[in-house]
Amino acid sequence: MSDDSVSTTILLKAVQFAAAKHSTQRRKDVDASPYINHPIEVAHLLAEVGGITDLATLVAAILHDTIEDTETTPEELGEHFGPNVRKFVMEVTDDKSRKKADRKQLQIDHAPTLSGAAKAIKLADKIANVGDVTRNPPPDWPLARRIDYLDWTEKVVAGCRGTNAALERHYDEVLKQGRAALAAQDQQR
Ligand code: ZN
Repeated sequence: MSDDSVSTTILLKAVQFAAAKHSTQRRKDVDASPYINHPIEVAHLLAEVGGITDLATLVAAILHDTIEDTETTPEELGEHFGPNVRKFVMEVTDDKSRKKADRKQLQIDHAPTLSGAAKAIKLADKIANVGDVTRNPPPDWPLARRIDYLDWTEKVVAGCRGTNAALERHYDEVLKQGRAALAAQDQQR
């Protein structure tokens, strides 16, 4: 097989693995979208906006929430996808033994220490989440919580800058649009 077809096979294996792991989970939006939509969006942003072709980065993006949100173990990721993918996913995984507020602060504190691949995944993750919180928020989130969320992502992203200019520009644009949309909703209240 050519290198390209090997890469394609591994990427599809990651999509299938993540889809199986997240199969019973839904996003928090009003339509309860399938969870797998989110990691697919993150990987697609890395490829299309970020121009990233590195296979381990794209595979880690597909798998980025499996440790945090499913029963997947780091060993399992290492066994199926190798040490780099395992490392990148672990880098972007919150420690769920910590309280939610601590985890949010830790994301801000840890961002500058991440590898380039993990920073790019974080950036794409925040782009996707800002878009969701702007257009497709959890129905029980009041406007103030959505605005706070956008503000928090900006602090995490500050620590990821200098990695991928296109992703950073895209984040800035999505954040600006998000803030404008939420400000407009605030005016209507
Ligand atoms: Zn995510």
